Order: sequence, then C-alpha cells, then structure tokens
Amino acid sequence: MPIARAEHWLSVTAACFAITLVVMQPSVTSIALVLLALSLLCAQKDRLLLASLLSAGTISVLLPGLISYLIPENWVTTARWQALAAWLYPTSFERFRAPLLMTLALQLSALALLLRHRVRLGAPLFLIMAALLIGLQLINHHSTFPPLLRYAAHWPSLLTLSIMLLGQCLSTTQHWRNKRCLACALWPACGLLIATLLLWKQLHLEAEQKLHLQVAERAQQATTRLSQDIDNHLNTMRRFARIWQLQTVPPNYQQWTDLAASYQQDFAYLINIAFISPDSGMRHVYPFTETNLINIGLRLFDVQPEGRIALEPALKGLQEGNTDIIELLQGGPGIVHYFPVFNAERVPLGAAAMAVSLPLFAEELFTQLPASQGAIQWYNDTQVLAEHGDTTDPGPWAYHYPIHLLDKSLTLSYQPRHQYLISQLPRLPSISLVTGLTLAYLLYLVLYTFQRLGQQHSAMQKSNTALQQEIKKRSKLQQEIEWLARHDELTGIANRRYFLEQMETAQAIRPTSLVLFDIDHFKRVNDQMGHLVGDEYLFAFAKLGEAIIEQHGGVFARYGGEEFVAWLPGHTLSSAYNVADELRQRLAASNLTHADGTPITLSAGVVTLNHPETPDMARMIQAADEALYNAKHRGRNRIERGTLNAREDV
Ligand code: GH3
Ligand code: MG
Ligand code: MG
Repeated sequence: MPIARAEHWLSVTAACFAITLVVMQPSVTSIALVLLALSLLCAQKDRLLLASLLSAGTISVLLPGLISYLIPENWVTTARWQALAAWLYPTSFERFRAPLLMTLALQLSALALLLRHRVRLGAPLFLIMAALLIGLQLINHHSTFPPLLRYAAHWPSLLTLSIMLLGQCLSTTQHWRNKRCLACALWPACGLLIATLLLWKQLHLEAEQKLHLQVAERAQQATTRLSQDIDNHLNTMRRFARIWQLQTVPPNYQQWTDLAASYQQDFAYLINIAFISPDSGMRHVYPFTETNLINIGLRLFDVQPEGRIALEPALKGLQEGNTDIIELLQGGPGIVHYFPVFNAERVPLGAAAMAVSLPLFAEELFTQLPASQGAIQWYNDTQVLAEHGDTTDPGPWAYHYPIHLLDKSLTLSYQPRHQYLISQLPRLPSISLVTGLTLAYLLYLVLYTFQRLGQQHSAMQKSNTALQQEIKKRSKLQQEIEWLARHDELTGIANRRYFLEQMETAQAIRPTSLVLFDIDHFKRVNDQMGHLVGDEYLFAFAKLGEAIIEQHGGVFARYGGEEFVAWLPGHTLSSAYNVADELRQRLAASNLTHADGTPITLSAGVVTLNHPETPDMARMIQAADEALYNAKHRGRNRIERGTLNAREDV
C-alpha cells in the first residue's frame, strides 16, 4: 500500500513539473515529458488504452528529431530540418529537437510504459537503458571548446524524467520478481549497453574535436592567404606608381585617370587614386565621385594632417609611406598609401596616393570563406574594420588569428554558423549509439527466449521422469496385486484360485490325480506353541510340499487353513499315492515336531481320473475329501485312496 501511494505521488509530481516546463520553456522535450507523465498516470489508473496512446504520442513527437540525428546530410540537409523546425515552431533547429540522449531516454521510457510488465519483450531493459542515458547526461565532458551538439538536456527536464522513471520502476518491478531468466538476460545486455554508451561518448567527442580542428585549419589557411593577398595588392599599387618613371614630365590628367580607371576596375577597394603635387595639393583623382572631385586642389597637409608623416617622405622621393587606419575623406575606415613618383632621371615629381577602403578590401578578400557558412570580422584593438558573412545563428566556436597589414597587427575572427557546423558533423556516433542500443535489446531477447525454453525443457524432463517412475511403481503394484490374487500370502505358494485355473488349462490330460492333505492335530501346535510357530510350520510344510510335487510335475497349493492340495497330471492312482506318501514320510522325518517332540504328520486322500470324460472338479475334491476323512478316521498319518464313480472304480 505505501508503495502504491509513493508511485501515485511520484507520477503526480512529475506531471506537475512537466506541465510547468511546457509553460516556462515550450520545446519538444517538455511536450514529450508532459505526454509521458500523463501516460504514466493513466497506466496507474488502469486506463491502459489511453496510456498506450499517450506513450505512442511521446515516441512520435520525438521521432523526427531522432531521424534528423541519424539521416545523412546528403539525404536531408540540415537546412531542410531547420526550415521544418521554423515552420512548426519559430526557433532554431537545435532548440527545436530534443538532445540526442534525452530523445532516446524519453522514447525508451515510453516503450517501457507501453510494454509495462512484459519482461519477455524487454520492458526492464528499456527502463535500465533510460536510466543509464539520464546518468550519462549528468557527466560533463571536459573539453577545450564548448560542445557543438547538445546531447544533454537541462536539469529540470532530467529531474522530471528521473522522477517519472522512479515511479515507473516502483509500479512495475514487483512483476519482475522471481523471474530467473530475467537476470540471465539482463546482465549481458547491460554490459553491451554500457560498452555502447562509452563508445558513443568517445566517438562523439572525437567527431567534434576533429571538426573543430578542420574548421580551425580552414580559417587559418584563409588567414594566411589573406596576408599573401594583401602583399600582392601592395605590390600592384607600387607598380602603378613606378609606371611614371618612363616619362620626364608629371602625368597629365588624362594619362592619370585612364591608368587609374583600369586599376580601379580590378581593385574596387581603391576608392581614390590621386596624384599629389610636391606641395601636397591633390591634382588628379579617380574615380570621379563627388567627394573625390570636391577634394581636388586641397592641400593634404592641411586637410589630413595626421597623414603628413607618411606623405612628406614620399613627396621628397625618400620612401613610400602609409597612414594609420584613419577615417577616410570618402568615409569609412581605411589606409592611404603614398608612393613616390619619379621621372626617368629619378627626380621626384610628386606622389601617388591610394586610399584603400578596408570594408571593401575585406569584402574582396573574404570571398574565399563563403558568407553563408559563417561570419568574419576584421578588427583592430578598438574598432571593427570590416565584417563579412552571415551573423545569424552563430555557432559556439570562434577562431581568432592575427593578420598583418603593413606594420599594423590586426585580428581576424571567424565564427562559423551553427547550422553549418551541425551539417558538417558526421552521423556515425549517433548511428553507432542507436545501433548499440538495438543490439543490446536483441541480445536480451535472444538470451531471455533461450533461457525460457531451457527452463521449460528441464521442467518437462522432470515431469517426464516423474511420470515414468509413477508408471513403474504402478506396474509393480499391479504385478503384486496379480501375484497376491493367485498366491497364498502366508506361504507364498499357489492359492486355491490359481490351482483351479491351472487344472483348467490342462484338463484333457489323462490319467490325472488329485491329493488333498490335512495336517494332523494342528490345533495342538497352535495351542501349545502359539500361532506364530503354527504359521512357521505351515510355511515350512508348504515349501516342502511345493518342492516335492513340482519335482513330479504337479502343482501344489494351499487349499485353506492347514489343508493343502496337489494336482498331479499324468499320474496314475498308485504313482500319485507314492508321491503323496513321499511327502507324508518327508514331513514325518522333518524337524517339525509337536511340543512333546513327536513328529508332525499328515493325512491325505488321493483320487485319479483315467477316462476322457469332462472332469468335475468339485466331484474330485469331494472324493479326495472323503478319502481324507477316511484317513483321519483310520488313525491319521496315512494316505487313503478315494473313489469317483462306478466306472473309475472298475
Ligand atoms: P485333525 O485335523 O487332526 O482332526 O486336527 P486338527 O487340530 O488339525 O483339527 P482341524 O483340522 O479342524 O483344525 C485346524 C486348525 O488349524 C484350526 C486352526 O487353529 C488352525 N489353523 C488354520 N489356519 C491356520 C493358520 O493360518 N495359521 C495357524 N497358526 N493356524 C491355523
Ligand atoms: Mg483341517
Ligand atoms: Mg488338521
């Protein structure tokens, strides 16, 4: 009774928690938890159909998520799952589907609930699986980077499921007791289960580590290429400045803008290519944007004093120079490069100023890292200089690399999108986890069935041997009964019934003789020496008589009391007389004596049937009895011949 109450309250608590969760943070996990909690409550109230429907609902709600973990990217892309998630519920894909371990734990609990007490179908194993999956979620895997795939649920969900599981255990375990096959199947399956979970953890960690490294490597490579590109672009700009060495006079407006136009076509980030006269006046500009044209004639020393240090040596033909990252006159952050322009005699004519817009420069360089895969930021200590790519749904991993622009050390950061990373993650760990769980279940089924069959077989064998023993006992009893029916219990020789049967089987034999014996004064034996001695005497006489009569081919039987009868087929009257007399003499000579030492004697009557007429058994016995009476009458210890009828007597 206390257990039933505990079950009930655990389920109610779990249901309350689940409903709170669904209100506070609606997600697939919390919806599945509510369904499962209601299913558990229904099962406890014996509403089994409703409970089954709710359990099936729990499994179905989680099924798309499970499939998305297993199906390869080239069958259904992560983007498609994302679109489906957005259609059902406006959230990110990773928020939409339950974490893998939670998905499995919930589905296995629902399965256990569906099967309830069916040990044969693996209900206990499902509960253990769910418990282990919950346990695994509590183990943090320490890594140098945040995990990409959310495999563990938040603790409120875990707590709710644990309470439910406890309730389920209480309500079902009593049905599993005294099932010997259960342990034999459960422990090996659990062994496989734990191995699977450990393998999954390792594979999962390795897969994420590998992906992390891969992305880092790609970002690193892209950074190196960017550095090279920057150098190449600088060289291109230098070439532009050197071209004017071929002529003696400063470039005229037409020449300048023509060449600048051809450069600008290739390098859109050069937002101003200007010729600066030795007095820092801006002479020719290209492209002809409004800002550029307004600036013509301005002295840079005045309008951009921060660039003077770089410009002055270039104008004097001493060295090329460049500004820091400054706010360009054209707007936006950028750098202005100054290259000395000489004539053929290496007389400085002025300088070529090339304004590089960093956002435009970055845009051109970053095309190597596709915008859809992530976001790149280029920044110095204080400000973001350029951004590129998709900043929505950022992944948990960010990579930072130093990148050099002339003498300036900038930082390039790359943050791949979550969806992109997930799509790159191999499915092998998830598949191996689900396969391992399935194999453990199959192992359980096989072992359980095997054990059950074995048990049934041995039980059958046991009942078989018991049956055989019973049959043996009964046939022995039958034999005993049959023997008792035909033998005398005290002496062990044939009884009257058997004797008569024997006579009937060979009634055609002629001559045939019958002798009736009666021990003389046997009452005296009983009276003087007791009944037990009387019994012993009867036994001894029976054995003696049996031996002698059988020796002569006859049958000896106890006729009743101390009277015995012998049938001697084939014996004539005189031969039968002799046989009876032999027995009489042997008895008289035996050690059977009265209390006073006188020997025990017998009297007998003999009759013989010579003619082939149907013998009348009763008549023969009566005749023998009459002869016996005569023997008694004539003094005992003697044999008398009896007569059957007139013909016999003849
Ligand atoms: P007789 O035949 O010579 O006339 O004298 P008897 O003493 O033998 O007299 P009777 O034949 O009438 O008596 C038979 C006695 O045998 C009676 C009974 O006490 C005894 N008797 C019969 N059956 C058994 C038995 O199974 N065991 C013992 N101990 N005594 C028996
Ligand atoms: Mg008698
Ligand atoms: Mg007698």
